[in-house]
Amino acid sequence: MSAPTSLPTTGAPGLTHAFADAVPELALPWQAEPAPAPSLLALDEDVSSDLGLDPAWLRTDDGLRFLTGTLVPDGARPVAQAYAGHQFGGYSPRLGDGRALLLGELRTRDGQLRDLHLKGSGRTPFARGGDGLAAVGPMLREHVISTAMHALGVPTTRALAVVATGSDVQREVVLPGAVLARTASSHLRVGSFQYAAAVEAGSGAAPGAPGGLLARLAGHAIARHHPVAAEAGSPAAQHRALLEEVVAAQARLVAQWVLLGFVHGVMNTDNTTISGETIDYGPCAFIDAYDPLASFSSIDTGGRYAYGRQPGIAEWNLARFAEALLPLLAEGGDDDGARTDRAVAVATEALGGFRTVFGSAFAVGMHRKLGLDARAVDRAVSGPVVDELLALAADGRVDHTTLYRRLGEAARTGTGDAVLPLFTDPAVRSRAQAWVPRWLALGPDAELADRTNPVVVPRNHLVEEALAAATEGDLAPVERLVDAVSRPFEARPGLERYAEPAPASFGDYTTYCGT
Ligand code: AMP
Ligand code: MG
Repeated sequence: MSAPTSLPTTGAPGLTHAFADAVPELALPWQAEPAPAPSLLALDEDVSSDLGLDPAWLRTDDGLRFLTGTLVPDGARPVAQAYAGHQFGGYSPRLGDGRALLLGELRTRDGQLRDLHLKGSGRTPFARGGDGLAAVGPMLREHVISTAMHALGVPTTRALAVVATGSDVQREVVLPGAVLARTASSHLRVGSFQYAAAVEAGSGAAPGAPGGLLARLAGHAIARHHPVAAEAGSPAAQHRALLEEVVAAQARLVAQWVLLGFVHGVMNTDNTTISGETIDYGPCAFIDAYDPLASFSSIDTGGRYAYGRQPGIAEWNLARFAEALLPLLAEGGDDDGARTDRAVAVATEALGGFRTVFGSAFAVGMHRKLGLDARAVDRAVSGPVVDELLALAADGRVDHTTLYRRLGEAARTGTGDAVLPLFTDPAVRSRAQAWVPRWLALGPDAELADRTNPVVVPRNHLVEEALAAATEGDLAPVERLVDAVSRPFEARPGLERYAEPAPASFGDYTTYCGT
């Protein structure tokens, strides 16, 4: 099916409801609360056109009602999704969309199914104590950071639009409310599988039976994200392949985060996607000074989700995914104990793939950051050069983005002049001086380094400054920041301040949950 290139201005798009059809047990029909005075704060026209949506229509009154969930196109069936999740290691059997709705799916120009999802659209039966709302700042924050991630080449949900609702939201202070309309290749998470497994186990149905909830959820995930798994043979083989694909997709994703200095901040299992896209930009941040223990979230007091702990946490979350999938991983037989043993063996082996995929993605990525092709160099020589740079960066607490970006210039000039001044500690600098010729001897490619290392990332001080202005009604700083992060590999004249580290006066950075 090809998407329409434009829509009649009076017409809303046709949304499908494949998720709700496949797993109605996880899809609670619901509707958005009205937005009293909607006004458009941001619209990503690329995302819009890719979905066959007419940006001009989205700007109309009907378009804004569509973007806030109160104009429901014919045939659409908005739902709140049910899921469970481990939050900071503790299990919550029933989380679900407390303030979000899945409006349905649309197709991109190249035929891919994308979810259209609202955040901040009012309380749902999953809201627990929450008010169901979202404030302008955090929703624009998701817009800014997901735009940056996409431009940096990281799989991510995308923001279609942010609409101010005209309602107040009570946080520590009263803030203007907003709804974020975002797209994703789906909103299936590890927590969706945890929920389905628990519901099935509690229902008395045979766990993992064909046609049962867990098997249908797995089938939906395979069809949408990992169709290669459908070719694996028996159902158990297909489910094993699904697990392997998700493990690999998450390993590659988290390697990209680490290479870029991104800290997600709230890697709960309900924020770990089956697609391998980054989701839920709450208390996330990009590191300035390189520090494996960097942690920015006010709620992550133990540093569980610190920068350098992310691979281990992803692996842990995937183990929870494997547990949920256990009933699907081994074929029948009379002896349940033997079947479980076989499933555990399959799961353990598949999880072992994480370290292999992560290790390779990280090593290849680090080589590229150094302007090196990992396939063309002697890894016995280049590996220690990579490791030593990481140690130098940590010991010198050097600005991550600046350090790697300057490697392009250093490779071009064949000297350490561009990078050595970043090492202010004399002892670390003298080690860096010794490192430069070892690296240059490997023949780094300046162009490769420049294509790999961004000039601009959404630095914390820039994000905070722009969101504070937007909360006061001035959108210009957010627009300039979105423009800057949209072309992150280009050093553009006039945008120098977007490439600079935070001034010392910005101090240590803490982000507050982002809700
Ligand atoms: P998040 O941190 O956005 O991934 O959300 C974690 C869980 O808390 C999800 O179940 C959300 O739907 C729910 N939640 C977060 N904020 C609110 C809110 N203001 N009202 C209702 N539910 C919320
Ligand atoms: Mg979430």
